[in-house]
Parts: sequence; structure tokens; C-alpha cells
Amino acid sequence: MKAHISILFLFFVFTCFAQNHKHTSNGELLYPNIPGYTTLKTDLHQHTVFSDGKVWPTIRVHEALRDGLDVISLTEHLEYQPHATDIPHPDRNRSFELAIAEAKDHDLLIVHGSEITRRAPMGHSNALFIKDANPLLHPKDSVKPFVEAKKQGAFVFWNHPNWSAQSPTGNPNYSQFHKDRVANNELHGIEVINSGYYDKESLELALKENLVIMGTSDIHGLIDWDYTEKGNSRPITLVFAKEKSEKGLKEALFNGRTVAVFNSLFVGKEEFLKPLIKASITIENVHYEGKTQILALTLKNNSSSDLQFLNKMNYSFYGESPLFTVPAKGELVLKVKTLEILKKLDLKLEAIEAFIAPDKNPIIDWEIKVE
Ligand code: ZN
Repeated sequence: MKAHISILFLFFVFTCFAQNHKHTSNGELLYPNIPGYTTLKTDLHQHTVFSDGKVWPTIRVHEALRDGLDVISLTEHLEYQPHATDIPHPDRNRSFELAIAEAKDHDLLIVHGSEITRRAPMGHSNALFIKDANPLLHPKDSVKPFVEAKKQGAFVFWNHPNWSAQSPTGNPNYSQFHKDRVANNELHGIEVINSGYYDKESLELALKENLVIMGTSDIHGLIDWDYTEKGNSRPITLVFAKEKSEKGLKEALFNGRTVAVFNSLFVGKEEFLKPLIKASITIENVHYEGKTQILALTLKNNSSSDLQFLNKMNYSFYGESPLFTVPAKGELVLKVKTLEILKKLDLKLEAIEAFIAPDKNPIIDWEIKVE
């Protein structure tokens, strides 16, 4: 009995220690690297009590650690501070400073950012990699914040461009203001997914104007309450960087190497989305079943998104719909009727919840050797 208690006690101490140090949850987001690049999981649009959010900045750090993110930015509205009577904070850098202090013992990058907040048609934009938020504050002038952000070397993206409160059609209104910012190299990206809303017309605009494709949570409350408890993961941007550092992230963003992800939805340029989906599936245990010409393959999903595919081969499946799902972090045994014994198979599937353009899904190829 005594031995029993001490083993239990040790177990208790061990689990407490482990929990204190890991900050992960079952919902840790998982996406593979793609050839040549490290995949950084980022959420670059978030709020705290330092603007209109409901939590202290340290909570954002711990939520990010639980989700296994690599990078976050707390992008407080520069001009909108509904809690200012209770929390007076003339220094617009405070939120960043508190987050960076909290994250110092963890492998989480905190990028200094701010949200420039205007009425339509200018709307809201996030400036990342700024050095000092205070000089961006020009409530009466819409151009000056962008000029200052550019001076500080910022990467700037247009937030929820389709927001119906600012654009009643629900489509992005690409105004002269935006055209000028893009022409002046003061605006570089656009959200195609914001807080769970995907916008096809924003993707169309991103591709037409060569704006970097972004997806963000725009969280104001708690990630747990607003996403996890509803069975969702927070929207993120996967950034394909040469190294995991602020410098690596910045280079990758300015060069448009991103894919926006929300649950099983992927939105990005073909050159990044195709290798991402390809790397998300590994194929194991390839063999013909008994004396049949039915080739069995185990598809393993290395990502935290369900991956839905449509068969694009001339071969049919045995006992499976042509439209099927490989569950997140799970696997599926696919049986292909090859009609003869093959030495290799070119598995060809359309990723139907991945968009490389409006209404356009990529077709992914895996060359499989049969041992
Ligand atoms: Zn926002």
C-alpha cells in the first residue's frame, strides 16, 4: 500500500511538472514542412484588453503554446481603446512588451504589430514587424499610419476586406485608397479567411493584385470558447520560411509564401498548397491483397486537418467512395482495383477543400512503388 502511494505520488509530481512545462493541449496544430522550407504556424491578428479584446496579453501567449503555434502577433487597434478608462495606457507598445516577457522561456515568436482602424472604404489593416507603435497613431489622417509603417519596414495586410459592416455587398471594395497603398508598397497582403469566414472574392483579388494570402483568428474572447468548444480550430496562416526566426518569417511573408487554413479548408497559391497537401499524406504498407489485383495502401494524414479527396485516376476503388476523407492525424486504407499487378502506381487525387483559385482545386500526385 505504501509503495502504491509513493508511485502514485511520483506520478502526480511527474505529470504536474510535465504540464507546467509543456502548455500543450490535444488540439495542438500540426502541419508538415514542405521541400526547402520550414512551415511556421502563425496567427497574426489578435486582440487583448489593450484594445477591444477581453483577456490580458499573457493569455494569448499560453493559448498559442497550447495550440503549438510558432508565431503570434497582438495587433491592438491603435485608435480604439474601449477599456482606456480602466486600463490607461498611453504607450501603444504595452501589449507587445507583456507578451514578449511572458514568452521569453518558450519557443514562440512574438511579432510586434498594430491594427490601423478606419471607416470604409479604408477599413482595417495590420502592420507587422513595426519597431514602435506610437508614431503610427494619426487618428485624423488615413495615409500617415501607412507611411510610418513603411518607414519602419512593416509588412501590412488588409483585414476582413469583405466585412459587411464596411462593404454591404459582402465583397471587398478595392478602393482608390487601397490601390494607392499597393502602388506605394504600403500594403502587401489580404485576409481571405478571418475568424472562420472564407471569402472567395478576396482570394480572387489577392491573385489578381498579387497580394499575400492570409488567414487569422482575429480573436477577441478566448480561443477555447470561440473555436475549440465549437469543434473548430482557430484560422491560421502557414508561412513557408527558410528559417524559424523573425527574419525568416518576414522574408517569407514579403515573398508571399503562405497558405491560409481553417479546419479542413486550405487557401493558397498552387506552388505552396500542392507540396503542403502532398507532404500531409504519407503512404505506407503498399501491397496486393491475397491473390487479387487489388492494391491496398495506407494513407496517413500528418496534419490536424481532415483531408478530403476525389479520385482522379482511371482505376476505381474497392469498397470506397470516389470522394473520401483521411481524418486529421489519422489514417485510411485505400484499395485500388488496378486490374493487373503493377510495379508502381501514380496515385492522383483532387484535394477538394483546397483552393488555389476561386472554384479551383489542386490535383496531387504520389508516385508509389509496389514492393
Ligand atoms: Zn482586428
